[in-house]
Amino acid sequence: MSKIVFFCIPAHGHTNPTLGVVKELVNRGHQVLYYSYNAMREKIETAGATFVACDDYDIEQKLTPKDAARVGKDLAFSTRILVDTTLALDDKVCADMEQMKPDCIVADSMAVWGKAVAMKLNIPFVSSTTTFAFNRDSSKIMKQSIGELLKMIVSMPKVNKDIKRLQDKGYPIKSILDIMQNDNDTHTIVYTSPEFQPSSNTFSDKYAFVGPSIRPATGKIEKTKDKLVYISMGTVNNDLLSLYHQFIAAFSKTDYQVILSVGNLVPMEKFKNLPENISVFTSVDQIAVLQKADVFISHCGMNSVNESLYFKVPLVMLPQTKEQGGVANRVSQLGAGLQPPKTDAASILDAVNNVLNTPSYKENAVTIAEGFRRCPGAKGAADKILRVCKSE
Ligand code: UDP
Repeated sequence: MSKIVFFCIPAHGHTNPTLGVVKELVNRGHQVLYYSYNAMREKIETAGATFVACDDYDIEQKLTPKDAARVGKDLAFSTRILVDTTLALDDKVCADMEQMKPDCIVADSMAVWGKAVAMKLNIPFVSSTTTFAFNRDSSKIMKQSIGELLKMIVSMPKVNKDIKRLQDKGYPIKSILDIMQNDNDTHTIVYTSPEFQPSSNTFSDKYAFVGPSIRPATGKIEKTKDKLVYISMGTVNNDLLSLYHQFIAAFSKTDYQVILSVGNLVPMEKFKNLPENISVFTSVDQIAVLQKADVFISHCGMNSVNESLYFKVPLVMLPQTKEQGGVANRVSQLGAGLQPPKTDAASILDAVNNVLNTPSYKENAVTIAEGFRRCPGAKGAADKILRVCKSE
């Protein structure tokens, strides 16, 4: 029996793909300890791991909304948060690891404290990457601007000061890149296919592209028209009332069935007197809807796009963040969706008609789905982790 420790950030999109892997390891008789946050406790325990709460040590959750918005945009500030979290967890995690003596640590690529502690205590390590893996080649799809690069260079002295704080606590880290980047020396699980991952041939054989992990549907959706348009802007940045009204205007005079999932940040009373072909929900069983949908209007979160393509549904893409922009660019490159030039009702309807009436969008979605279905999934991820447990 191997002892495996997982670390993750408090985000469903980063946690969900690991749950099937935990289940697989536990079913094979291995012991799994999972450091995460109380909001994720139930699903982690249901998967069969022993849950350890990091909430009391989490720096990000104590930030003001203004500071929280800087995380991910300001390198020096983000590093400070990551270093503070690593140091806050240091005593507890190091003592736990010394006692447990795990065979392997598996950490989400953003839970950098997992990789840091593996380096410090010389424990075999696997990175778990729920977005695309990034290196010099694949990051071209993110199109980082010159201004952002300049900002990054200017912030380097501050970053180095924070790295020194880690070094003083015994962490053998030379630069921020040691813990933040996907490199060819680190065993890495990526939850997409080699065909969908940009430049997958530039990653070493330490990478396992295991494919998306798709949860089962919990219900069934009734298709009432020939074409079903599904719309969701995800579960995080979905306070987008004026955009939702553009969707309703776009489809009110069509013969498409429209299912619009708006989240719980916009009041439902803003959706009165809807046309009979349009239904609005705070949340739907997205897996069940995608099994029937003909096109998905999406913000291009990695999970939504994986799910859409897994069910061979082409996309109309309205990315809201840089990461989502990278995913949308990859879908465009592979011809399985398009990004409308504007987000007014006419442009959205035009894009949807275009995707529905041009067979290549569907055909390319089918090709990507076939690649996903060839991937080894949670079993392959578990095999990879167990190989690392034994080999080092
Ligand atoms: N989702 C869902 N029902 C909804 C809207 C979203 O089940 O009505 C799920 C969707 O299936 C996906 C996740 O929420 O697994 C959204 O993750 P994604 O990475 O696409 O976007 P985020 O919400 O993190 O921006």
